[in-house]
Amino acid sequence: MKGIRVFYRGTEWIGVQDDVGLRLVPTPGSDIIGMIEQQGWEGLDREATSVVALADARLLAPIARPSKILCVAVNYRDHIEETGAATPDHPIIFAKVPSALTGDGDFITAHEIAQGLDYEAELGVVIGRRTSRVSAHDALDYVAGYTAANDVSARNLQVADGQFTRAKSLDTFAPLGPALVSPDEVGDAGTLDITSSVNGELRQKSNTSQLVFGVATLIAFCSEAMTLEPGDLILTGTPGGVGGFSKPPRYLKAGDVVTVTIERIGTLTNPVVGPEASKSE
Ligand code: MG
Repeated sequence: MKGIRVFYRGTEWIGVQDDVGLRLVPTPGSDIIGMIEQQGWEGLDREATSVVALADARLLAPIARPSKILCVAVNYRDHIEETGAATPDHPIIFAKVPSALTGDGDFITAHEIAQGLDYEAELGVVIGRRTSRVSAHDALDYVAGYTAANDVSARNLQVADGQFTRAKSLDTFAPLGPALVSPDEVGDAGTLDITSSVNGELRQKSNTSQLVFGVATLIAFCSEAMTLEPGDLILTGTPGGVGGFSKPPRYLKAGDVVTVTIERIGTLTNPVVGPEASKSE
């Protein structure tokens, strides 16, 4: 099942996307993670009764306000190869701020301070229930669903700062979606083809089997350090083929369109606009 958040008739709604179109829960402002936590995906399916046309709604990031977005550096074997980095012996975690979130179809802003604007296709894991110090064996019981993400990065700021927070947290630098896909529909998250393309040209092509640390291990590792709350997002790292390690580097610019596609999850599409064209709402 595919859970969605949309902007429709001036407010936010949650619902389900299926072959027919969108079905919305007829109470505006409902919490998709809270509903899944309390009633399961079956509850969301049952409550989503108001059919609307996809063309009349704008997709939002499928989760609204996570308490944290945790990201993993150098976690694909093919990306480690292109960076020349050593394979880490434990997950390298950093944070991206939640205000960077944006939805499918929305803009990535090429901010004036961001040179070396880069894409990173990533599998996103959304936590469904609070957990602390969970074992890898039990970790997947705490997953609400999966989604596609683009860990947009300003390489100049990454180099200038010597760490990732500012470089990866500019407004619009966390496109997410188009939907939150239920674990039963995704199946084994360690066997998913993952690609990115820019203006239709394939840039990244890999499979989540290339992950050094898989989803269960990442959840267990993060939860050793901090309590994971419902709606928290873990971005699991990006495969090889990012613009900054292309020779010569191939960065994003205004007018480009970036897509991230993950098998059994969907395609996340975001156009890049210049700072003057960015909108705020
Ligand atoms: Mg990344």
